[in-house]
Amino acid sequence: GAQSPSVHIVMLPSPGMGHLIPLLEFAKRLLTFNHHFTITFAIPSDGPPTTAQISVLCSLPPQIRHVFLPPVSLNDLPLDSRMETIITLTVARSVPSLRDLLKSMVADTQTNLVALVVDHFCIDALDVGKEFNLSSCIFFPSTAMALSANLCLAELDEMVTGEYRDHPDLIRIPGCTPIHGRDLFEPTQDRQNQAYKLFLQNAKRFRFADGIFVNSFPEFEPGAISALKLAEPPIYPIGPVVKMDENGSGEGAKCLNWLDEQPHGSVLYVSFGSGGTLSSKQTVELAMGLEMSGERFLWIVRSPNDELSNASYFSVHSRNDPLSYLPEGFVERVKGRGLLVPSWAPQTRILKHRSTGGFLSHCGNNSVLESVVNGVPLIAWPLYAEQRMNAVTLTEEIKVALRPKVNEENGFVEKEEIAKVVKSLFKGEEGKKVSARMKQLQDAAIRAVGEDGSSTKALRQALLKWKTPF
Ligand code: UDP
Repeated sequence: GAQSPSVHIVMLPSPGMGHLIPLLEFAKRLLTFNHHFTITFAIPSDGPPTTAQISVLCSLPPQIRHVFLPPVSLNDLPLDSRMETIITLTVARSVPSLRDLLKSMVADTQTNLVALVVDHFCIDALDVGKEFNLSSCIFFPSTAMALSANLCLAELDEMVTGEYRDHPDLIRIPGCTPIHGRDLFEPTQDRQNQAYKLFLQNAKRFRFADGIFVNSFPEFEPGAISALKLAEPPIYPIGPVVKMDENGSGEGAKCLNWLDEQPHGSVLYVSFGSGGTLSSKQTVELAMGLEMSGERFLWIVRSPNDELSNASYFSVHSRNDPLSYLPEGFVERVKGRGLLVPSWAPQTRILKHRSTGGFLSHCGNNSVLESVVNGVPLIAWPLYAEQRMNAVTLTEEIKVALRPKVNEENGFVEKEEIAKVVKSLFKGEEGKKVSARMKQLQDAAIRAVGEDGSSTKALRQALLKWKTPF
């Protein structure tokens, strides 16, 4: 209501577009409850803002502001530090400047600061929120299953000796399909690595939050969500929170114009999120598989990387010309039915487009939920982070995705397999079933965030605790 013009919330996203975007969407969702909220994004980094960051931050409603916290130095980190280490330490080292910011806001009598919301890599900042008596909550942008795995990681760490992937039994996460140790989050796969130690330390401290928002909803993860009902702190499934209004200018407009000319539901959109990369051999294999499938496709092509699967995490624009890694003559041969876009595309506009009929995705939760709200069935191709867990839910539990098999001998998904799965999604019986289930899930997603939906109710309940009218 109009009586609370100065209610203020600070949000802290960890580095990476894949973390900034969902938290921004959550902020926009809060504004639909009370458009008098003012939300300040405090952005930690180890360098100047990227063009991708600037472009999303500049297209926000006036109630959402941002400040860049002073860049921290990571010069002392080994060059081979894992992405999770870089993210966690960037945030940890930004805590003093966050404290300064909160201090000045609390001192300002015009500002009624009530809450600090941080994402899952910013657990170090929760204490600062508490110092200032703020409701200190986590926004967990991934699934309830991944959240649950975080909450029971300390227990798993004690129970399992050696690497998780060598554990003879399946790993049981409450309410979820049991998974192989190798499918547990990527940073758990090397227990000697500093990334695992930081990850575990973070996971242990989730419980100190005043509440955890999770980007999921009951029909999407029935078992996982019901198992979290009585958890402490309270868990609020408030999803799907996804990007809606995206402008499609420049390169983006090219994609949309091309889609306009394609038949209804005929195009496979291929993208590995904001940071996913394939090896050079896998890139070639994918190209040939798409060609062999005979289907239409729109592929966001990144330069391959033979060591890391998330090589472009911090700089989505590939350094070299990604098209130069494709097989000889490929671009010419697929002309007309395959559009190749280097680096970045307006994904939600593509998924909403009537010509898009499938999405070959790395299974990042944002990509998955964007597909769900548009009713687009998936081909699951997990790469890093918690994506293998997501792929299990999507293919085995709710069955809205097909999954190409990896050749166990050489570790690749081969072109014949790719072609088979793509054809099956568009023309096969399996594809029909998966598409039908995805349409049902789409309806459930829309209901969840509707007026009386479960996600709307959960969010309302959480806001009651912020001692603020809405
Ligand atoms: N995205 C986009 N265009 C691209 C690639 C990604 O707009 O070319 C957006 C996508 O819509 C999603 C986010 O970037 O909102 C990626 O998040 P996700 O959780 O899928 O994966 P992550 O990047 O965190 O691995």
